[in-house]
Amino acid sequence: MPEFSFELNDEQKSVRDWIHGFAQDVMRPAAAEWDEREETPWPIIQEAAKIGLYSLDFYAQQFFDPTGLGIPMTMEELFWGDAGIALSIVGTGLAAVGVLANGTEEQIGTWVPQMYGDASDVKVGAFCSSEPDAGSDVGAMRTRAVYDEAKDEWVLNGTKTWATNGGIATIHVVVAVVDPELGSKGHASFIIPPNTPGLSQGQKFLKHGIRASHTAEVVLEDVRIPGSCLLGGKSKLDERLARAKEKARSGGERVKNAAMATFEASRPAVGAMAVGTARAAYEEALEYAKTRTQFGRPIIDNQGVAFQLADMRTQIDAARLLVWRASWMASAGKPFTSAEGSMSKLFASETAKKVTAQAIQIFGGNGYTREYPVERMHRDSAIYTIFEGTSEIQRLVIARTLAGMPIR
Ligand SMILES: Cc1cc2nc3c(=O)[nH]c(=O)nc-3n(C[C@H](O)[C@H](O)[C@H](O)COP(=O)(O)OP(=O)(O)OC[C@H]3O[C@@H](n4cnc5c(N)ncnc54)[C@H](O)[C@@H]3O)c2cc1C
Repeated sequence: MPEFSFELNDEQKSVRDWIHGFAQDVMRPAAAEWDEREETPWPIIQEAAKIGLYSLDFYAQQFFDPTGLGIPMTMEELFWGDAGIALSIVGTGLAAVGVLANGTEEQIGTWVPQMYGDASDVKVGAFCSSEPDAGSDVGAMRTRAVYDEAKDEWVLNGTKTWATNGGIATIHVVVAVVDPELGSKGHASFIIPPNTPGLSQGQKFLKHGIRASHTAEVVLEDVRIPGSCLLGGKSKLDERLARAKEKARSGGERVKNAAMATFEASRPAVGAMAVGTARAAYEEALEYAKTRTQFGRPIIDNQGVAFQLADMRTQIDAARLLVWRASWMASAGKPFTSAEGSMSKLFASETAKKVTAQAIQIFGGNGYTREYPVERMHRDSAIYTIFEGTSEIQRLVIARTLAGMPIR
């Protein structure tokens, strides 16, 4: 039985320091420029690929870290560097997880490496689930996938929205309805291979924050893909649908709202991103408070400022502990009996919004300008309470779990 410890081991510390170096030396100096340009920072992704920080191998290694802390530690450091650039680097992971979670070994081996490309020709992947009328309510999804048995092909039609890397990805992972009667149990995931006719980028969104990360609609018009692009394969899907139909008939299990069941296990990772942004803003504010002088003394000498910093730091540490607990539980195979994954995402994302707003306050007028990074960090922080399930949906999941009500 290993000794209880909150300390990262030596290997984790060296990985953390390595990511921190990249965040500090490469991401930070480029952050304001890519925020203004509002474009995918391809040269930075390429730099990350050159050192192995943008690769399937690296994320797989962190994912399988037996303590569970590899992914949260990675996310915190990257998002400490800059949230928009960091999302451009880790956004492909969302699509990769979509394939890893549902695909066969052959599908994983074929498609996931293509999402990343290589250091000389970097690529990105996109995960497309949300739709204009199906955000929190994933069960309202309308994109249809119909099987053409004669050709062993699937035909997809619909419009996806808010897709990170949508339209610029080599590989799009698309969730679509295969059996409308089964609600979210009638969904399946598909690979759309590169250059498939019928897939196009719709509107690219001009955003409040994380502007270096590309977010767009993805339009699917009679997109024909081989049967082999159904993740998990046809016979597994048929079995799953038959089971769901049987349960629906016998009333054994309610057809769920999938938004509320969106992988609990991925939520701590978003919590860790929020911790990274919050910590970055706190550090900036602390430094500023020590050096900015008013009334003949540093502003940190005023309890009104110092107490804000004390609260900021306390909340960041508390958020990290919730994230680490949930990450450790997920990797140890412990079920989230009290929705611990949602708790960590809820608390960390709300903390990031609060802490970055306090950082602006401590910077005074300077904090309100684009000359100082806390303004960008505050804009960036607003995403954490929205994507991967809004704060309201997290509360719904937590409350229903505590009440013993079904969330799936
Ligand atoms: C920058 C960005 C990147 C994204 N990346 C991706 C991506 O890569 N892939 C992807 O598939 N999606 C992505 N999303 C979509 C994201 O997951 C959705 O925006 C999110 O799930 C919320 O859906 P919605 O925007 O439709 O809001 P809505 O569901 O319309 O919610 C609007 C408001 O109503 C509240 N609300 C809704 N239902 C309830 C309820 N039952 N109880 C209480 N309050 C409720 C919400 O909390 C929210 O405050 C991204 C979004 C953004 C902004």
